[in-house]
Order: sequence, then structure tokens, then C-alpha cells
Amino acid sequence: NFPAMIIRDKEQKGASLETLSPSDLPDYPVLVRVDYSSLNYKDGLAVTGKGRIARRFPMVPGIDVAGTVVESDDPAFSPGDQVIANGHGLSETEWGAYSTFQRLKPEWLMHQPEGFSQKQAMAIGTAGYTAALCVNQLISWGGLASDQGQVLVTGAAGGVGSFAVSLLSSLGFDVTASTGRSQTHDYLRSLGASSFIDRAELSEPGKPLQAERWIGAVDTVGSVTLANVLAQTAYGGAVTACGLAGGYDLPASVMPHILRSVALIGVDSVMAPKKRREAAWRLLQKTLQPEHIDIIAPIEIGFDRLPKAAEAILAGKIRGRVVLKLG
Ligand code: NAP
Repeated sequence: NFPAMIIRDKEQKGASLETLSPSDLPDYPVLVRVDYSSLNYKDGLAVTGKGRIARRFPMVPGIDVAGTVVESDDPAFSPGDQVIANGHGLSETEWGAYSTFQRLKPEWLMHQPEGFSQKQAMAIGTAGYTAALCVNQLISWGGLASDQGQVLVTGAAGGVGSFAVSLLSSLGFDVTASTGRSQTHDYLRSLGASSFIDRAELSEPGKPLQAERWIGAVDTVGSVTLANVLAQTAYGGAVTACGLAGGYDLPASVMPHILRSVALIGVDSVMAPKKRREAAWRLLQKTLQPEHIDIIAPIEIGFDRLPKAAEAILAGKIRGRVVLKLG
């Protein structure tokens, strides 16, 4: 028997620690010992019960898995293989990472990307991989090049934001970080940010077209912030939208798009196709400075500290990333 976090039903206010046996697990081909996971904003919503993430009950939350294959009925994986998984409905309709053992479908698994330990892979996790999806899209779809001007990252001190700052600065971009926490400036500077704007500067409604400041942006905040970012993006620039930390609405106009050819690129990590996932991990392998991983994810917790950490991430009090050690 082994420990797992469980949400029993819709009415339950958050997840609680229980003991499961192997026969409780879903009937999927690959049995994985989950060694590490992480805490994302979405995990915060699921664990506290403040967001309706689980759509089937009982549910094991946790969207990031790093583990070791114990048994596999699929030839692509053998006992002892180190694997990662994220998205694919984990924590929504499929049991996720917060269980010391889990059964998973082979098509959800990737062999652990070379060059990263399990712990590093989870320090990166959904947040770092989503940041990499955003950066790849800005470059390949948006045509962004580092000699053209400044790029903006919103929600910069959060998980996605921190990795976006790190990747963009390592690629030679001049990065402006938008944060509501001035005490994180030194932290963001150590990841390569060169200038800062206060979160409040972007969260008040503004004009549909504003002075052109950014050649591109990674937005994790949404709502009025994203509308202002689009209105401040220079001619031909591109903005990726992946988050809703400030709200899920988008009170914007078509003006930046029809007068400045600004592109708004949506980024989803959950159902991203394999090719795009692999390209994101390749960017991380090629570009991410190992010391940045340590700066972004200095904290490792166990199940005992997970509920408090989940509250803290929703309150915007977590800087960078939190790694969860299981077992
Ligand atoms: P996180 O670590 O909590 O970071 C979010 C950051 O947003 C916070 O650190 C804070 O940054 C800023 N923020 C918080 N509340 C805000 C508010 N009311 N107004 C403006 N800014 C606010 O979360 P994360 O894991 O990086 O995820 C960031 C967002 O991306 C979340 O909305 C998450 O759901 C989404 N996401 C989406 C995908 C996808 O597949 N599309 C994947 C991963 C994440 P500062 O303190 O620096 O201001």
C-alpha cells in the first residue's frame, strides 16, 4: 500500500491524504513509481478545491509526473525506464501524479529528456515546458528575432514567467519582466531580465492602440493585462497567451491586429501534439542554464506541505517553482 492525495467527490473541499493499494489504480498498461512531481497553479486549484479541475471522482490530482517504470505491457517502455508525463487530462478526467504509484497510458509518456535529472525535469515541469512552447511559437510562428527590440513577460515571477524570462534572455533577447512583487527584481535579474514594469501598469484598462513597446510577449495573466500588451506590441509583433492568473476574459479590440499586424498566438500544453512537446523539450535542453533551474526551484516539499503550498500558489506567494518529492 502507498500514499496518495485523493478528491473523493464534488462536494469535498480539496484533496486529502489516503492510502491506496495497487488494485485501486486504473487499468492502464504502464505502472510507474512516481518519484517527483511539482505544484502548478492548476494543481493549487485542484488540491484546495477552489477550482473545479477534477471532472471525474474519485480523482488523484497532480499534472506533472516524473517516475520509473515498474511494469509495462507496451513495448515502448521497459521496467527501469525513467519517464515523464504531463497534461493529457491528468487531474481532470485521468488520475494524476500525487500518488506514489500510478498506472498510465503509454501515449502520455515520454522518456525523460536527456541531460535533466528527474528532479530537474519536475522543476521545469508543465510551467517550463509551457514557457518553451510559448518561446518556440514566438520564434517559429511569430518570426521573433533577438535584435529587434524588447520582449515582455507578464506574471514574470511565477512558474511559466520565470522560465520564459530565463529562456528568452539565454536566447539573447532583451527581456522586460512585469511583476506585482518588486522584491522579486533581483531574482528576475539573475534569470536575465534587464528591466521591469509593475503589474499595476498593465492591469488598468487602456486605449486600443498605445505606444509601441514590445516586439513580442509571453503573457500568463490574460484579461486587461493581455489587452494592454497587445495594444503596446510593435508592428508585426507577436504575443502568446497561455494563462489566466488575472482573469479569463479578454477586453480587447481588433486594432493591434488590423493596423499593426500583431499576432495573438494561443498556447495549450495539455493536448499539445508530441512533435510540439519534443520541440519544447529540445529548446529546454539546448537553452536552459542549469543554474537557472536551481534559482527557480529551490524548494522541495512532501505531501505534508502540499496543502499549504497549494494555498500559497493561489495567493500569488510562490516565487518560481515548487518540486514535490514522493516515496
Ligand atoms: P504561478 O506560478 O502562480 O504564476 C502566476 C503569476 O501571475 C504569479 O506569480 C504572479 O506573478 C501573476 N499573478 C497572480 N495573480 C495575478 C493577478 N491577479 N493579476 C496579475 N498577475 C497575477 O502560475 P503558473 O503555473 O506559472 O501558471 C501561470 C498561468 O498560466 C496560470 O493561469 C496557469 O493556469 C496558466 N498555464 C496554462 C497552461 C496552458 O496549457 N495553457 C500551462 C501552464 C500554465 P508576479 O508576482 O510576478 O506578478
